[in-house]
Amino acid sequence: MVILKQTLYKGIRVYKGIEYPTGIEIVSPELWNKAHLAIQENKTRADKYTKHYNPLKGILKCPCGCNMQIVASGNNHHYACVARANKKEKRRHKPECPYFGINVKDLIAILWNEVKYRILDSEYKAKSNEKMDALKAENFQLLQQIEVKKGEIESLKADQATIIGNMALITHTNIIQSFEARVNEIDDKIKEIENTIKGIKKEITKNERKISDENKAQSIKELEEMTIGGKAEIFKNMFETVIWDSVKTRRGILVVNYKNGIQMMYVYKSTTKSGKIAINLPTAFEYNPETHKVIVKSMKQPQASPESPFNFSLETVTSEHSADEMIASFKGEEEYDLSQSIWG
Ligand SMILES: [Zn+2]
Repeated sequence: MVILKQTLYKGIRVYKGIEYPTGIEIVSPELWNKAHLAIQENKTRADKYTKHYNPLKGILKCPCGCNMQIVASGNNHHYACVARANKKEKRRHKPECPYFGINVKDLIAILWNEVKYRILDSEYKAKSNEKMDALKAENFQLLQQIEVKKGEIESLKADQATIIGNMALITHTNIIQSFEARVNEIDDKIKEIENTIKGIKKEITKNERKISDENKAQSIKELEEMTIGGKAEIFKNMFETVIWDSVKTRRGILVVNYKNGIQMMYVYKSTTKSGKIAINLPTAFEYNPETHKVIVKSMKQPQASPESPFNFSLETVTSEHSADEMIASFKGEEEYDLSQSIWG
């Protein structure tokens, strides 16, 4: 069961009495119901993870900069930094990478939920539409460029025809030779332009593919029928990188960097005592890769002093928190109860 707290439906998380948006804005109850249905339907599809199929290939990164790969230990699969998991890589990376891995099922469950909510999220949609509009505008320009190039070819061909026409009236060898050279020159120029047009057409096709990918990501119906291979494709379409930053075992910060520039953050912890939890952090929070902590900027309560009773200027206070500290602050507000994960 995926448990969503009431406040999170509205995309708000309360941190130390202050409401922060989490970036999740469900567009309409209809859409929400559809998404929920999709989650329910996924119950029947248990995803099997193997060492040989990595749905986050090239996307999931360790803070050391290396990719992470799936490592099997019995039935338990987890992602580990290649500098730790792989003997050959291990030799290359000395001293050994100090960061820890994460359970594959848990990570995919968090990311798949994240993707689904984001697809329903109006902010993502707006950016996605913006991106599609930009691609469409670019293609329009490229098509116009092709028209201009075609015009150039037409006028070159007309020049050529004139020269060839004149050649018939001339008997002087030297002049004929120079006319021939000019005809060949124009031929080369035409070929060059034709190649440019080919290049532009390739660019257009590439953009069209991007538009259709973006459309696909927006389609909820397709999400309902997603296999692990399909999920992998969506991850590839939407994520630039995902960073699993863990300085201690079984807990850490998950940073999701979308291709359209949005960054989302989670804190995750897996304990034998209180189970597994993943918490989606407010979008106003930032990630500090240097300290492996979450940066929180909050407003200091204005304090009126006797000297300046009307001084209400707000002061920004910046603090940094570890994954453990973040989880402790949001205790009881867990977004996902992964211990009862429907993904098994
Ligand atoms: Zn590493």
